[in-house]
Amino acid sequence: MTDNIFLKIARHEIPANIVFEDDRVVAFKDINPQAPVHILIIPRTEAIPTLNDLKPENKDLVGHMFLVAKKLAAEFGIAEDGYRCVINCNEGAGQSVFQLHMHVLGGRPMGWPPG
Ligand code: 5GP
Repeated sequence: MTDNIFLKIARHEIPANIVFEDDRVVAFKDINPQAPVHILIIPRTEAIPTLNDLKPENKDLVGHMFLVAKKLAAEFGIAEDGYRCVINCNEGAGQSVFQLHMHVLGGRPMGWPPG
């Protein structure tokens, strides 16, 4: 387990536009947004660098991440038009920060398949 930039954001050691936090997760705006709404939701634990590291005991945490995504989608006005929740796993899928994170993207039409 290693420290990373997202855990530093979670500990308020480096600045970010935090839009939600509780004892389990922190949500903040992506520094390089790919849509009008682009929020990242991370767990506070350092134990899950990638989706491959997820354990059965993390299932409530992951469910909580989705509930936070749903709440934020409503708050940011993208729930009705539609939004996308994305978790990139490992470099081949585009993961660049090795702290589990869910992208919540919305506010523009989304193509499929994703690039
Ligand atoms: P990944 O490519 O790992 O799935 O997503 C990482 C995301 O984190 C990228 O969309 C990138 O723009 C964002 N990001 C990287 N460093 C920072 C940072 O220091 N602050 C914020 N708010 N976002 C970051």
